Amino acid sequence: MGSLGSSIDEQVIDDQIQARLQLFSESPCGRENDIPFFVANTTKVVQQHQRWTHALPHIHPFYAVKCNPDKRLLQLLADMGVNFDCASLAEIEQVLEMGVDPSRIIFAHPCKAPSALDIAARRGVRRTTFDNADELDKIQRISPGMELLLRIYVQDHGAKVALGTKFGAPMEVTQALLEKARRAGLKIIGVSFHIGSGASDPNAFVTAVQDAKRVFEDGKALGFNMHMLDIGGGFEDSNFETMAYPLRKAIIREFPSSVTLIAEPGRFYASGFYTMVCQVIARRTQAGTMNSTLPDMLYLNDGLYGCFSMGWSENGIFVPTLVVPRGKSSTVSREWTPHRYSIWGPTCDSIDCISKEVVMDQEVKVGDWLKFQDMGGKPFHSPPDFWRSDCLLDGEIIFELILHLIAYTISASSRFNGFPNTYAIILLE
Ligand code: PLP
Repeated sequence: MGSLGSSIDEQVIDDQIQARLQLFSESPCGRENDIPFFVANTTKVVQQHQRWTHALPHIHPFYAVKCNPDKRLLQLLADMGVNFDCASLAEIEQVLEMGVDPSRIIFAHPCKAPSALDIAARRGVRRTTFDNADELDKIQRISPGMELLLRIYVQDHGAKVALGTKFGAPMEVTQALLEKARRAGLKIIGVSFHIGSGASDPNAFVTAVQDAKRVFEDGKALGFNMHMLDIGGGFEDSNFETMAYPLRKAIIREFPSSVTLIAEPGRFYASGFYTMVCQVIARRTQAGTMNSTLPDMLYLNDGLYGCFSMGWSENGIFVPTLVVPRGKSSTVSREWTPHRYSIWGPTCDSIDCISKEVVMDQEVKVGDWLKFQDMGGKPFHSPPDFWRSDCLLDGEIIFELILHLIAYTISASSRFNGFPNTYAIILLE
């Protein structure tokens, strides 16, 4: 289903990219050329939700806002009945400001700042996670009425981001935590886990469900009303069903249908939301140098210090396709044979390498634009002052500049070296 949907959308996305490039062709040295842009595709999000409800019909998704806090994405998800996993006060306030009821939020961070816990509780958020004894003391002191999920340690060792290195109570300490909570008069209602972001081993889910069952039984034996299982996130577009079906079977085997099932998917919903387009600002050919066996080098207007921060955290592999502006292909002479390139960001830092080697099916030149798919992430506030209003598209396209801290694609974004972390977004509806 995913591939059929994406091939239909692809044409529409390419049309929007072409419309934007036409605006640039008038002024090749304009500063607006320095700004990479995104095409945001809401239909992809709707498709993902359909896949979710088909494969995991009894598990209510709480979208992990950290993955991409774009207000239009959040509104679309809210309208489809998706709830929210917030990990900070700012995320909670953003979701509440949309008019979402606090009962639709889980404060899914096992190690919270006291102030965040206090304000969240006063704003009506009732559920949170914990994984250590000190957090229980904090909760008892600040918001003893909260409903708690004990986050247990699980790990898909092949996951792109191994969250188990930071969070999750090992099984050896869960009993002691349950007993401590009991003595403190706190309310544990269930168990949560996260097998790691960008996971690929369905057995990690199966093991996690079995461990969660043990903690459920231990909690019930201590008198807790254990009725909620939160299976976290970790799903990707490419392997969603492969991961989902063994998980579903394990849950049916281990848990009665009376247990409320929730999840915290992020990347699965958000990654396909954005296609990103960057310009080639410089090129270095290696022919005739001592590096002649190395790929030629392309330098883009964004890199590891910007939206490609996944390159640091996840060894992300970014393979672009060349966008040839319509009408231009016949006038620009280029070689139509495969070319090897390494791709670099704009900074003076040599770590700033987006891809060590990609093979493009044709030559790429300075001034060309490269398209990167599945870059679901989101940029910052207020347009830069040099952005010209005559660069805005009208009609069906809502074109906006938003600057706002994002996750996954811009979580490590910075202004290092004086390059602005500024992006443009074209919304497709
Ligand atoms: N829930 C928690 C607590 C997380 O830390 C994360 C990601 O870091 C997510 C959900 C979202 O995970 P994913 O994007 O892999 O679905």
